[in-house]
Amino acid sequence: MNEPGQKNPPNDRDLLKAFLDRRDESCPLCGYNLRGLTGSQCPECAKALVLRVGLEEPNLGAYVTGLIALASATGFCFLMFLFFVIFSAKNNSSIPRVYFFATGVGAVFSSICLVCWIRLARMIRGCSRSKRVVAAIATFLVPLICFTMFMWAAINEK
Ligand SMILES: [Zn+2]
Repeated sequence: MNEPGQKNPPNDRDLLKAFLDRRDESCPLCGYNLRGLTGSQCPECAKALVLRVGLEEPNLGAYVTGLIALASATGFCFLMFLFFVIFSAKNNSSIPRVYFFATGVGAVFSSICLVCWIRLARMIRGCSRSKRVVAAIATFLVPLICFTMFMWAAINEK
């Protein structure tokens, strides 16, 4: 509740309007210049807009790099595992079990790493630059391990 005589704080819509009154800001979706906006929707794409607090430096580079490395390993292993399942079922052929093992273990391992990476996003982004870079480089070990397991399966077929 407000103290007697205190003005009500401006609502979000008024704050957005005041913010865009004399600023050239683009719509995050369509890029339309929102200067002088009177409502809370983009006049071009009609998406609702909100005023938010953001970090000056969001520290996303290393985090997204790690995310790509882990997601690519997960995708590779799952797709290869699925391919072996479908190929062996369709052709009634006996694909060596070592392929299922390598891609299955790789899929589970890389998925766990990916989930951990996503759950630790805030902690990773809050680390120093050097630690973030080391962590991002370390994520490349996961696709490397998965690929090595797959190659090991190909060499030790049967
Ligand atoms: Zn827009």
